[in-house]
Amino acid sequence: MHEAALAACGIEGRYLAIRVAESEFEDAIAHLAACGFLGLNVTLPHKAAAADIATTDDPIVRDIHVANCLLLVDEVRCRNFDVPGFLAPIADLSPNTALVLGAGGAAAAAAYGLLRAGWRVVIWNRSERTGKSLCAALAPFGEAEFREEPNPEDCDLVVNATPLGLKEGDCPRLVWEALHPRATLYDLAYRAEPTNLLREAACRGLTTVDGREMLVEQGALAFEWWFDRRAPRDVMRRAVGLE
Ligand code: NAP
Repeated sequence: MHEAALAACGIEGRYLAIRVAESEFEDAIAHLAACGFLGLNVTLPHKAAAADIATTDDPIVRDIHVANCLLLVDEVRCRNFDVPGFLAPIADLSPNTALVLGAGGAAAAAAYGLLRAGWRVVIWNRSERTGKSLCAALAPFGEAEFREEPNPEDCDLVVNATPLGLKEGDCPRLVWEALHPRATLYDLAYRAEPTNLLREAACRGLTTVDGREMLVEQGALAFEWWFDRRAPRDVMRRAVGLE
């Protein structure tokens, strides 16, 4: 996606995947800056460490202390584009109640973004302890409540923030009968084609949002921060198979 964007803008550059051990994160960033890297995306398990080592002007990073993007000019700076990337495809929905499945990093970003956008959030998670501790961590930002079952009654939006769906045949558990016919299903797990969850939702006539929408938007925001120019979203969407 990023290499397609670079080519479309005539920028000479590469976007590389680099695996870094947790204990070597800070040294690795210093090394990459010295090598001339302009910026980076940071994924698990380094998103909190990125917020630790970098300065920021981003209120999201100040609130949740998690960053997914670094800019290595003069000093190491960080921002979180997961949250605005998640919110962009559902910007037209009127805030009501949303069910978030999962309580890991993606669920935290989604739930925080929803609360900030005025939604009430209910969280279901396989491990109750982790689910409840995410609800407690979100308390300063709005109403987040743990739900014992993945039951979407009273919810206009369901967000899958578990990895179930990455593999063909996988699908998170959901009490489908309780789902509002006008509800929206948003699957953060993304693949080259729509996941089982999205296919099932589409068969039931529900509105769906593919996780690649979030992937592209957070990537476009990162591109714009790194290069200070508009990202070619259409090219990026095509690169992930969305158009
Ligand atoms: P994570 O921090 O490892 O969290 C995983 C969550 O899924 C945990 O709540 C875990 O529950 C739950 N889970 C894992 N396996 C499960 C299973 N077999 N049954 C039920 N629950 C299960 O991962 P993450 O970073 O939040 O990522 C979650 C998903 O979001 C991944 O598919 C990732 O690719 C996707 N994602 C997409 C984007 C995007 O741009 N679209 C961005 C970020 C992440 P426990 O607490 O019980 O272990």
